[in-house]
Amino acid sequence: MEEQRWVYMNGDYVKKEEATVSIFDHGFLYGDGIFEGIRAYEGNVFRLRDHLKRLYESAHSILLEIPYTIEEMEELVLQAVRKNDLKNAYIRLVVSRGKGDLSLNPATCKEPQVIIIVDQVAMFPQRMYDEGVSIMTVPTRRNVPDALNPKIKSLNYLNNILVKLEANQAGVGEALMLNQAGYVAEGSGDNIFIIKKGTLYTPPGYIGALEGITRQAIIDLCDRHGYTVKEEPFTRHDVYVADEVFLTGTAAEVIAVVKVDGRVVGDGKPGPITNHLLEEFRGLVTVDGSQAYPEDTEEPKL
Ligand code: PMP
Repeated sequence: MEEQRWVYMNGDYVKKEEATVSIFDHGFLYGDGIFEGIRAYEGNVFRLRDHLKRLYESAHSILLEIPYTIEEMEELVLQAVRKNDLKNAYIRLVVSRGKGDLSLNPATCKEPQVIIIVDQVAMFPQRMYDEGVSIMTVPTRRNVPDALNPKIKSLNYLNNILVKLEANQAGVGEALMLNQAGYVAEGSGDNIFIIKKGTLYTPPGYIGALEGITRQAIIDLCDRHGYTVKEEPFTRHDVYVADEVFLTGTAAEVIAVVKVDGRVVGDGKPGPITNHLLEEFRGLVTVDGSQAYPEDTEEPKL
């Protein structure tokens, strides 16, 4: 029998099946809110402070006042993980503008809604890490930063969902977005790195990408292991002719890309630097560097 899961909602724990929000919540009506996707490994929440800093910066940017200090929020997240008695967990922290009226005016929302969901992690099959994935670039461009800055991790994910729809239609697991100028921005839910002649490149935040926590963990690992990383704009062509390409994200961790828009990357297999960084990343998040990744069942999707 599945264990009972508890959702933290504004001061109370509610059974997962009974956790509901009002239809007048502006997060539901307008995507007015922010969120984080966080992961716990073996009872340790990975880079929780960094996730919370990004959450509080997103909140600050959209003038949403979170009713807890960052220290209090940290404690609430840890408490929610303990309450659910999960050592390996996916944590979804959502702060919406709260209940208002049907006008889009946020001033009608008197109290933000803070929700912490803790559940099992949907892990990708080991085969994806061993063999890498094929991706494509899609026609939908990344939101322009002066309209809705992709650095804000807002509940308005329609831009990303459009990309996912295009990827689904084409039968690929993940897709890349370009920005208005045609530079590579990011995937629908992950950041991208390319490697050329031993140097790593990842698009800078101003290109129009979320500054991923995993992306930063990889940059830190590169510093430690003597790889040069440059935060520089690059084009699709640079991706096609890279020696190695990989994606990073809380869910994906580090996943090699072996084909982009039908072009084989490198020799069509996860490359040595990608594999090294994946191994180091696993070493960061787990004690012995290993986790039980599921056997392959069906065509995996990112
Ligand atoms: N870009 C987007 C659009 C995302 O949704 C995510 C997932 N949060 C990422 C990048 C990767 O960020 P992180 O490493 O913090 O999960």
